Amino acid sequence: MEHREFLVQRMDFFCNSREFGELDFATPVKVGLRHADYLAGHGLSRQLCLDELARLNYETLTRLEEADCGLHDRRGRFPFDQSDLARSNLSGKPVIDQVLVDALKDMNFQPAARWPDGRKAAVCLTHDVDLFDGTSFKVLRQASWWFKLALFCMRGKVQHYRDTHERITRWRALDYDPVYAFDQWMELEDEHGVRSTFFFLALDRALSLEGRRYSYKDPRVRTVIRRLHENGWEVGLHAAYYGHLNSEYLIRQKHNLENILGSEVQGCRHHYLRVVFPRSWELYAKAGFRYSSNMGWSGGNNGFRAGTCIPYPVPLLDDRLGQLWEVPFQLMDSPRIDQPSRYVEQFEEFMRRVKQVGGCLVLDFHQEYLDPVENPGVQQTYREILKRITEDDEVWVAPIGEVVQHLETIIR
Ligand SMILES: [Zn+2]
Repeated sequence: MEHREFLVQRMDFFCNSREFGELDFATPVKVGLRHADYLAGHGLSRQLCLDELARLNYETLTRLEEADCGLHDRRGRFPFDQSDLARSNLSGKPVIDQVLVDALKDMNFQPAARWPDGRKAAVCLTHDVDLFDGTSFKVLRQASWWFKLALFCMRGKVQHYRDTHERITRWRALDYDPVYAFDQWMELEDEHGVRSTFFFLALDRALSLEGRRYSYKDPRVRTVIRRLHENGWEVGLHAAYYGHLNSEYLIRQKHNLENILGSEVQGCRHHYLRVVFPRSWELYAKAGFRYSSNMGWSGGNNGFRAGTCIPYPVPLLDDRLGQLWEVPFQLMDSPRIDQPSRYVEQFEEFMRRVKQVGGCLVLDFHQEYLDPVENPGVQQTYREILKRITEDDEVWVAPIGEVVQHLETIIR
């Protein structure tokens, strides 16, 4: 699909209409003043023609700047600080959506409600399951603690030594496993009447290059996956970090999960977000996934990686591969949320911006960070966010798979 066709599809989608089929791409449109600098960075002015807008939209959403750029961080990913939007200080805004809404208004079109019951925005709660429990590999875990203590001692890193020592003491005093939190997640979300998406690894071995993880063959893992699925939670694949561009391996991981579930796995998010756009999308489509949810940043850089919070069918794919949606995510937790109120403030700010353009806010909270003793800030923050989204009549909360299913009914 080329850039013009993609813009027509997106405008139809924004307005829930079929009115843009005959667009004249020389038509000038004017967009708001607030993005003048951003547009200038692309050699454009606030007065641009539809063809220029189509190109900007296409290039940003397909991450042209990331494709074959040769830049990567220590985990082999495109670096946040090399992103055009981050360098323009705009990564906290759905810039492309805002520009498109401005252009539509200039053309006398009003974006239509696209969420059930006329709600202004959708919210998807997601959990990457990097660890299943804290009791497996006890000896290895303890050995790594002592090794760390010895290292900090030798290097004179007093604070690091104290923190690690405190952590060990805390863990030893607990009479439960602070890593395994599936029951608490289910209870907490059930209390609020919401369901989320859990992305599970599907590794052959629990101990491998991937670290101390878990295997899909573990009967305890299989039981939890089935329980989640049977009770309305969505299970997606958290694809392995190593072999991230190996198509057969990706298909095998998907099948491993599907064999447990007895149904298809729709979504994929790579561990550490190790994706290469657009190549990873091709692999996802080839493996038969319906959506990818990788368009976000990790490492505390919350924001809008492609300048959008509106899920979109990826336009680059070979038609024979079928349709694949990208569902961008904006907010990720970290093991330490020292200031829950500041995190909630950022959530509120993103929520406001997402509502303005009728988008979908996607949050990622890791399975293993919920323990109130180990990570008190995380549980407090998640509870507060749950309270706010479930009390908000303007928001529809659903697992990503349901959101994609809904959007498929309104796109041509
Ligand atoms: Zn992960």
